[in-house]
Amino acid sequence: MPKITIDDHEYKAEEGMTVLQVARANGVQIPTLCYHPSLKPSGSCRLCAVEVPGRATGKRITMLACILKVKEGMAVKTRGEAVKRARTRAFKNLLQMAPQSKTILELARAYDIDPGPPPDGCVRCRLCIRVCTEIVGPGALKMEKRGGMNFVTPVEGLCIGCATCANICPTDVIKVDDHDNVRTISIRDEIIGKHPLERCEGCGKLYATPKFLDHIHKRTSAHTDVKTPHHYCQTCAKLFSDRVKSFTDHVQR
Ligand code: SF4
Repeated sequence: MPKITIDDHEYKAEEGMTVLQVARANGVQIPTLCYHPSLKPSGSCRLCAVEVPGRATGKRITMLACILKVKEGMAVKTRGEAVKRARTRAFKNLLQMAPQSKTILELARAYDIDPGPPPDGCVRCRLCIRVCTEIVGPGALKMEKRGGMNFVTPVEGLCIGCATCANICPTDVIKVDDHDNVRTISIRDEIIGKHPLERCEGCGKLYATPKFLDHIHKRTSAHTDVKTPHHYCQTCAKLFSDRVKSFTDHVQR
């Protein structure tokens, strides 16, 4: 009858038992999804990683407890950095296949494994946060931990409705909805900003939010090349400036 240690406690095993069977028989917790006591183990979910000394070198390696047969004097660790790394990898692989599985998420939490953010279309590149802070200026987006996971979230009241974040988002998870003279910027179901839209004085098209126009005016008015503020959309502004230029060229000829 072999004796093994699990996390420095000694247990008696029966010949042919697996580490998982000994652990379960003695109330030692090891996570599993693909294991069933009435079926042959397959090692498919890979959640039951434990650390043991390697046979050839004695150097500690991770192995799957459901298929690892006990040996006299075997020293098993069910905790530690190597085990955590192996389990995190396994949880992430499983969540790629079953992202909405509550069972997997709850199991990960129970074993203190961070499975990473749930799939919500956001790849956490932070381009939206960076562009809003570094280029546009208001800093209306931030990274926030919710339930132990990182999410892009709005900073209340700071959005000016420019839509730059939506334009730069590589996965289109930030939405811009221009409807009934109102622009709504949102991520997931969360509103980042809701703003009235101004009409272009040239063509009448709804084209920008007052907060954005005000922001641009404040940021650029001190510059010597900036002309008087106008309320023209990009197309009309270009059209008028082309006309002014050709008129000036004509006068100068
Ligand atoms: S729409 Fe709002 S959150 Fe997005 S870049 Fe502009 S100010 Fe920032």
